[in-house]
Amino acid sequence: MPWAEKIRPVLSAYPMAITPYYLSLIQQDEENDPLALQCIPDLKEISVLPNSSADPLNEDGCMPAPKLIHRYPDRALAIVTKTCANYCRHCNRKRFWKTPEASTLKNRLGKMVRYVADSPKVREVILSGGDPLTYDDGKLEMILASFAAIRHVEVLRIGSRMPAVLPMRITKDLCRMLKRYRPLWFNTQFNHPAEITADATRACNMLQEVGIPVSNQSVLLKDVNDKPAVMQHLLYGLQKISVRPYYLFHCEPVKGCGHFRTDIREGLTIMEELRRHCSGLALPQYVADLPGQAGKVPILALSKSIKNDLKEHQDFFDNFE
Ligand code: SF4
Repeated sequence: MPWAEKIRPVLSAYPMAITPYYLSLIQQDEENDPLALQCIPDLKEISVLPNSSADPLNEDGCMPAPKLIHRYPDRALAIVTKTCANYCRHCNRKRFWKTPEASTLKNRLGKMVRYVADSPKVREVILSGGDPLTYDDGKLEMILASFAAIRHVEVLRIGSRMPAVLPMRITKDLCRMLKRYRPLWFNTQFNHPAEITADATRACNMLQEVGIPVSNQSVLLKDVNDKPAVMQHLLYGLQKISVRPYYLFHCEPVKGCGHFRTDIREGLTIMEELRRHCSGLALPQYVADLPGQAGKVPILALSKSIKNDLKEHQDFFDNFE
């Protein structure tokens, strides 16, 4: 059966979008190319796995206004679009891909802005999606300006995968516009060192040059980056382009993503290897995102070798009051 026929049932549940740029990075002759695994649909996405849910973080239950997630007192996350340049097969919001927008951007934005304006404890607004940078500069500025106009909103943040999947979207005009909304923080998602290209470097540097710090949130993905050497290469690459490795997310039990999940013990082993080899500046925090206000919980465990190291240096601690 031709490949397109075979994956038709996957596409009817979870559509496909890949930028020509990202496609060009895939090594066609590699069977399990780590970039291909992140964007090419796989039949495993529609196999039913126990304990998975379309919305394991119960985001849909934490929306006081349509598509505005309010899980923590001091910040709110606005899902400003459902569209992305690439549809990442491991996306924890893939439940949205097929659902049409209920109303116009202006209408949705108005309700979100009203809620934030009435919530004085919210000091930070995160534009997320989907990918907010799929909007043109004018629409994006309208969104930023609407939230920035609220007196108690002190910080804005954008979550976008564009530097990794379509770095050409980061233009001089875009950066000039974003600069007006500082303090503005930019979080992106590089998951594999092969994504750190000259184009991606240029995109991140352009944002940094206008005073916008860029951080990275990777997801630990089976067969993509679940080897210490691959992860080390990624972290060193990020550090070299001045992008701060911020979080390494344990892959959540999202319906359609089960084949990307690793065991937490594997994640801890990787983190321990990294801790032994990488400078603290290159180390992300390994976290699990949990439903409700529990939020992002650091995953920590003392392995045998760390316990031995601590035991060996007990005197060091005994000398402290
Ligand atoms: S860019 Fe982000 S929101 Fe869009 S598919 Fe990828 S992970 Fe999901």
